Amino acid sequence: MTTQMSDDSLPGLLDLARRDYKDLAGQGLKLDLTRGKPAPEQLDLSEGLLDLPSGHTAADGTDVRNYGGLRGLPELRAIFADVLQVPADQLLAGGNSSLEMMHDCLVHALLSVMPGAESRWADQERIVFLCPVPGYDRHFALCERFGIEMVAVPMDGSGPDMDVVERLVAEDAAVKGIWCVPKYSNPSGVSYSDETVARLARMETAAPDFRIFWDNAYAAHHLTDEPVEIADLLALCAESGHPDRAFVFGSTSKITFAGAGVGFFGSSAANVDWLTANNSKRSIGPDKVNQLRHLEFLRDAEGVRAHMDRQRALLAPKFAAVQRILSEELGGTGLATWTDPDGGYFVTLEVVEGCAKEVVRRAAEAGIVLTPAGATHPYGDDPRDATIRIAPSFPGLAELERAMHGLTVCVRLVGYEKAAGA
Ligand code: PMP
Repeated sequence: MTTQMSDDSLPGLLDLARRDYKDLAGQGLKLDLTRGKPAPEQLDLSEGLLDLPSGHTAADGTDVRNYGGLRGLPELRAIFADVLQVPADQLLAGGNSSLEMMHDCLVHALLSVMPGAESRWADQERIVFLCPVPGYDRHFALCERFGIEMVAVPMDGSGPDMDVVERLVAEDAAVKGIWCVPKYSNPSGVSYSDETVARLARMETAAPDFRIFWDNAYAAHHLTDEPVEIADLLALCAESGHPDRAFVFGSTSKITFAGAGVGFFGSSAANVDWLTANNSKRSIGPDKVNQLRHLEFLRDAEGVRAHMDRQRALLAPKFAAVQRILSEELGGTGLATWTDPDGGYFVTLEVVEGCAKEVVRRAAEAGIVLTPAGATHPYGDDPRDATIRIAPSFPGLAELERAMHGLTVCVRLVGYEKAAGA
């Protein structure tokens, strides 16, 4: 912890940082800021799910205990149509994970001809995805898994740099997709501006089968009184003459139970039919018992909003603590900048170039585990070695505060060491 700063010359600051680090390392901490998991108190908000469903019949008479219903329960799709900005009849409610649906879309695009495609992706020499950075490591892992080349695109405060995106998609037909987390992005918290969404919808792509993987994982996950509304990509794509361009994903993983919620896929009717046809080979139907349970628990779009207000009450103090500690300990030092998100699950900390790996290493040595530096970039390679992802949701407030103080000590230590050439 920064105590009395009696000497603010570089040697003095370095000396203090070294002493603070020694103290920190002596505390025998065991703290974890790695993954964006809900805390147990957040999961408790959905405990009622464990006593549901109260029956086994959906509104249309479907017996949810039996096979069938590949598209998912219509009433649940109607609720999330609102949340995800997809008409209910173009929205699928699936299994427990949206990431699985993204995986499946890639596999099916590789192995079957998508609407608008001239051939299967597997039959093409190169497939390239644009990866706005910092981004979500599991998106990048999927690309690596399937040999899809990744090209990093810088993000600014309104989304990916659209001049770069437009140039890359126009000049190379191998560029088939882009990963987007459009609202409260993982990990920067940035929400895409209306202009960014409109440009994504209308841009000319060399590939006829270009897809935007619109992972709206944090659609309802606000941290302020003024929920961000993003533009409706699916509608804009249709208006721009590119109806099949958007694949919209979402889930209740961070609304109800992480890993035991419901995943959603929305797109044009043609894409939904394509995925449903592929799904019909993979499954005889999703878990409709879980879908009915979610329907009874959340009731309607207003129910989702009220539930997310309760989530926010638990999360907002943690995000506020992160801001307070970063400002108190690192404000004005020139050693770091950070994001102050209005929603989502993450804060991005940018440290002095060339220092992120070392900060993460020093923190680990002091018992504070962070997401590996570089994870926010394709191939785990942050060329500036500057980005660190902070996930404040899981630890309790006191534990989070200890971890954040410790992290700032490491940032000061490594930053001043670098400045001193030590
Ligand atoms: N997308 C993003 C951007 C995420 O942050 C996460 C969870 N960390 C997921 C998808 C995973 O979603 P699901 O649990 O629905 O597979």
